[in-house]
Amino acid sequence: EHALVRLEGIRRHFPVYRGNVLRRQTGTVKAVDGISINIMPGETYSLVGESGCGKTTTSRMLLMADQPTEGDIYFDNRPMKHFSGAERRNFKASVQAVFQDPWSSLNPRMRVDQIIAEPLITHQRLSRSAVRAQVQELLQVVGLHPFHAERYPHEFSGGQRQRIAIARALSTRPKLIVLDEPVSALDVSIRAQILNLLKELQSTYELSYLLIAHNLATVRYMSHTVGVMYLGKIVEEAPPIELFTNAQHPYTRALISASLPAHPRRQREEIVLAGEVPSPINPPAGCTFHPRCPFVMERCSADVPALVEYTPRHFTACHLYADGGKNTC
Ligand code: SF4
Repeated sequence: EHALVRLEGIRRHFPVYRGNVLRRQTGTVKAVDGISINIMPGETYSLVGESGCGKTTTSRMLLMADQPTEGDIYFDNRPMKHFSGAERRNFKASVQAVFQDPWSSLNPRMRVDQIIAEPLITHQRLSRSAVRAQVQELLQVVGLHPFHAERYPHEFSGGQRQRIAIARALSTRPKLIVLDEPVSALDVSIRAQILNLLKELQSTYELSYLLIAHNLATVRYMSHTVGVMYLGKIVEEAPPIELFTNAQHPYTRALISASLPAHPRRQREEIVLAGEVPSPINPPAGCTFHPRCPFVMERCSADVPALVEYTPRHFTACHLYADGGKNTC
């Protein structure tokens, strides 16, 4: 089975200039710096990491809102940069997005049926009655009553608005939906309902998701594969059970320990992150995590660690595991 989406060696670098008249390049922002990931049909690939690590830039490139400066993105084995006009239109219908804040993503002046029908009308030629029938069906699929069709977004709760955003995303029968923090703006009490709805829809329609989330419990619940990003690179990738029980990279271990509730009687090895995330403008040489890493060694500031398979489907980029899982220091 081939990946629905394959990112190969994707980079997104921006030059930084100084001076208005005699502009001189003073650095490069390495927002995304050589990542390769596979999103399989019917599965969820999650990206986690602190803000500014490149998760959103990655998803923007996948949504064609931004272009990689290097590398290729393949959709159904076709490189996106060589898409014909028809392939591009098909791609735009096949890849949709649901964002964090259903307040700002739904146009307040449009009725719910217009909001849901908008992508349908853009991508397909349908009669009015066919559009109406599809809107009614989509409302039911996301757990809303058809009489909601003629209302406006402000008449709904946050959870209901997110259901409307999901119905809109589903309207073009996509293969992939980018979920950018889909529940973090919602009340804790309704987050699980929306996550369960997304899971149900995934299995009914064989949907793939690219999930961007900082809540590790959400990631653990939803994902088939998790990629941990730090300063534009994937530093560790594994299925969630493996990642949450057997994380290897010091950064992943720090993220996981920071997310666990403090427990005075539990003896656990805890890694506390020192300092701030360095700027992605001219990031540190070698392993970009080295200024904050408690295990830093001499070679860490000079050599970039490669992402190597530690155990099957578990990859990590750290010199501690450079020798196929054996500690080399
Ligand atoms: Fe730490 Fe070195 Fe591993 Fe980077 S390569 S995470 S600095 S031990």
